[in-house]
Order: sequence, then structure tokens, then C-alpha cells
Amino acid sequence: MGRYTGPSCKLCRRAREKLLLKGERCFTAKCAIEKRNYPPGIRSLRPPKISEYGRRLREKQKLRFFYGVSEKQMRIYFAIASKKQGVTGYNLLALFERRFDNVLYRASLGKSRKESRQLLKHKHFLLNGKRMDVPSYTCKVGDVISIRPKSLSLFKDTIETLKSAVIPEWLHYDAKAQSLTVQDEPTRMQIDIPVEEHLIVEYYSK
Ligand code: SF4
Repeated sequence: MGRYTGPSCKLCRRAREKLLLKGERCFTAKCAIEKRNYPPGIRSLRPPKISEYGRRLREKQKLRFFYGVSEKQMRIYFAIASKKQGVTGYNLLALFERRFDNVLYRASLGKSRKESRQLLKHKHFLLNGKRMDVPSYTCKVGDVISIRPKSLSLFKDTIETLKSAVIPEWLHYDAKAQSLTVQDEPTRMQIDIPVEEHLIVEYYSK
């Protein structure tokens, strides 16, 4: 199954949770979850009964939709996470969190992960001084991200807001150099994704 390209709000309604896929709209009364918090096609507010398998599947899908990846990519990430030392569930989340498109989103360079991905695909960013347009690149500690000099005029307002933006502690924005450094690995506490990762591990371990 490839990457989902249909209406984002449907995914939230299916998960019955705000996945924040549409930037500013997600925080307004226009949010579909505020208006219709029940799965598409179901006209009842009563939550449907869900099996153990269904719970695992739902958590896995939630994570997939949060980061906008395909099922194939999910499986690859899980294989990498399970080979790494430590807790597989955390390893999996940390891999997603360090995706290049997510790092940009976390640093407020894009109103949603989708927008950040689009901006980087348009080659507006440099990684360690070299052009980088691969959303799935896993950022490493010490990586430095900056805006391509030619694109600076496009990001004039963003650069201003970045000075006061709240960004995760594992990232550091240097206003003078106008660059973003990955200074640490994110801890589980710093990954504010409401998923029960142990259910995802169970889903793939069956
Ligand atoms: Fe989800 Fe955002 Fe749509 Fe609300 S507005 S349903 S949070 S994508």
C-alpha cells in the first residue's frame, strides 16, 4: 500500500483523534474532529467495539498517518528499530522523529509535516551545506540544516517567527547563523505523539 493521498481529515476521524495533519486549521472550529468525531461512513457517536488486533492495527495506522509514510516504509522502519539496541517501540518513534521532514516541521519550518515535505522537495534546504531533498533522511546528531541562500526571501517571515518559536530541546536554532542543529536524540518524553508504541511492536511481532 502506498502513501495515502486522500482527505487528511478522514484519517483523524477514523483514528477518532486529532492527528494535526492540516496545520492551523487543526486548531480552529473548522476541524472535522470538532464537528464530526465519529468514523467516516458511521452515523453513531457510540465507539464501535474493537478487538485486540484492531487496537494494534489502529495504533500502527495512527503512527503511519502522523508521519505520512507508506506501509512498506513502516515495515522497513520497524526492521531497523528492532535490530537496534534498546526498546524497539522507542527506537521506532525516534527514527520517525528524526526524519528530515519532521525535523523541519518541529522547527516550525512548515505548518504541517505535509507542508515541510513539500518545501524540502522544492529544494529550499541545505544539510551540512549541501542541498537535501529527501524527506525520509534520518537526521544525525550534529547535522546542521539551513535555508538555501536563494530561497531566503521566501522565508523572511518564517525566519522572524523562528526567533521566538518554541522548538524541541533536542534541536537548536541559531538565529545569527540562521541554522538549525540536531544536538541530541529525542527522548520519549519529547516525542509528543499519542501512540501506544508497544501495541505497534506487538502488531509487527505476531
Ligand atoms: Fe485532523 Fe487537522 Fe482535519 Fe482536524 S483539521 S480533522 S486535526 S487534519
